[in-house]
Amino acid sequence: MTAPFPALLPTYNRTPLSFIRGEGSWLVEASGARYLDLTSGIAVNALGHAHPALVEVLHEQAQALWHVSNLYRIPAQEALAQALVDQTFAETAFFTNSGTEAAELAIKMVRKYWSDKGDARTTILTFEGAFHGRSTGAIAAAGSEKMTKGFGPLMPGFKTLPWGDHDALRAALDDTVAAVMIEPVQGEGGIRPLPDQCLRGLRDLCDQTGALLVLDEVQCGMGRTGKLFAHEWAGITPDIMMVAKGIGGGFPLGAVLATAHAASGMGAGTHGSTYGGNPLACAVGAKVVEIITADGFLDAVNRKSALMRQKLEGLVASHPDLFEDVRGQGLMLGLKCRAPNTDIVKAAQAAFVLTVPAADNVIRLLPALTITEEEITEAVTRLENAAQSLH
Ligand SMILES: *Cc1c(COP(=O)(O)O)cnc(C)c1O
Repeated sequence: MTAPFPALLPTYNRTPLSFIRGEGSWLVEASGARYLDLTSGIAVNALGHAHPALVEVLHEQAQALWHVSNLYRIPAQEALAQALVDQTFAETAFFTNSGTEAAELAIKMVRKYWSDKGDARTTILTFEGAFHGRSTGAIAAAGSEKMTKGFGPLMPGFKTLPWGDHDALRAALDDTVAAVMIEPVQGEGGIRPLPDQCLRGLRDLCDQTGALLVLDEVQCGMGRTGKLFAHEWAGITPDIMMVAKGIGGGFPLGAVLATAHAASGMGAGTHGSTYGGNPLACAVGAKVVEIITADGFLDAVNRKSALMRQKLEGLVASHPDLFEDVRGQGLMLGLKCRAPNTDIVKAAQAAFVLTVPAADNVIRLLPALTITEEEITEAVTRLENAAQSLH
């Protein structure tokens, strides 16, 4: 007899761990085993697990109202949009349930912008190693064989360029290009930050050609790099930006932020979402934004980043056979590995510290932004134990 097809569609290669409780930077198994969590649910639990202020606001909202649909005004949604507009380049926001949905709207917004101008531009330039989600549009945008194989015909309109190839970019970015879509720090691609001068150069090229600059800050946004959004380090602003992951602190929430100019085509009836921006998600999202933008919060992230980086440099220096270097910004850090990254992730797990593999043989360290200095020290000690165990 053949084994039955799994009740859960087997699209994931899961680690055989399961947790019953989260407390700040810690995840707890039923056995009581405690793991130091440097994954944050892949950069989602920006404020750690079960942050008391988020638990409280979710409770309160759950008792009042869960969902009404976007047939009606949703005060919490309006307040969150206003908070994001106040804190960023954006003049308008649309709420989604995920990063993928944000990518879909960003693509639609670009197309509508050019369509309304009566200009036939449809090409969106994207980059190798990118990750924008798993919808048909998002996999076409990223373009990698790994994500697209078997799912053709792919949505047309994307041209994928090599990462870091200025000549290729200059050659491709002419006045037929509708937009450039890029992650200021590639996450899945292996914690690859776009240097500030490149992002500034890209902004200039877009200004010269009229192409819209679309930044995917789903992973690197919401304080992850030590600024509210990663592009702030370069001192530029995009036309459109995708946000998700950290903004909900664990509650599914995403957003597209845009200038009024870029969003000008998106009138009533052009887009929608049943769940997007519902009262539960927006109540939590507003609290997350309030905490991350409070005085001193991001300064603390940058201090912790410096400490963690320094300790990780030490780890790399004492295990040059396993590690090549430390990369990334803020608390979005990567260890470029010489040994297979998945072996190191496993060894770390055995040392009770959780990390995430990424492309380019990197392991990602994405702790809660609320991790303490003691926990950072403990995490690197555990990584050191993991490294020793591999000798
Ligand atoms: C995770 C991610 C997405 C997709 O977000 P989902 O919420 O999984 O749909 C898009 N872009 C980037 C950069 C991401 O890291």
